[in-house]
Amino acid sequence: MTEKISVDGLVIELSKKRIKRMNMRIKEPDGRIVISAPCGTLDTEIVEFVRSRRGWIDRNVARIIERAAAHPEPETRAEKEAYRRDLKRRISERLPYIEEVTGLRANGWTVRDMHTRWGSCNTATHHINFSLKLATRSDEELDYIILHELVHTIVPGHGADFYAVMDRFMPNWKSIRAKLKR
Ligand SMILES: [Zn+2]
Repeated sequence: MTEKISVDGLVIELSKKRIKRMNMRIKEPDGRIVISAPCGTLDTEIVEFVRSRRGWIDRNVARIIERAAAHPEPETRAEKEAYRRDLKRRISERLPYIEEVTGLRANGWTVRDMHTRWGSCNTATHHINFSLKLATRSDEELDYIILHELVHTIVPGHGADFYAVMDRFMPNWKSIRAKLKR
């Protein structure tokens, strides 16, 4: 069961469970604060837990809200379809170009509603999946993911040989990857 409590002006969703230790998460995209606590935890312990982590909470809530504002999630089905059309158009322009420059080839691609990864490449079939989340990302960020997945058609893992190919075709890939992580 989840209840809402307030600590020093912060609204917290608290659920008590059969767990050993209290833990806290800040949820995307709205920065909700969620705490799971062992059954029998006292209110004073929860207040103390929140107060001792207040700096961390404020920083992370701000970071998540900022990111959601910069990269809004589609809110309706129609909006999601518009994102998908737009992303497909961008990929169908950039992928052939990057294939041309690198000599690497994908064997088909799909845009999928993936949340944990930007892309994936089946190293046996060379089929690439792109996350719909790329729809709100810049051209250089999209190019980086396209190249990353194309490189997987010749190098499966993320070893030194993988990064050597990345360095050759996109010397600034590290700074672009850092942008994607924000
Ligand atoms: Zn990879």
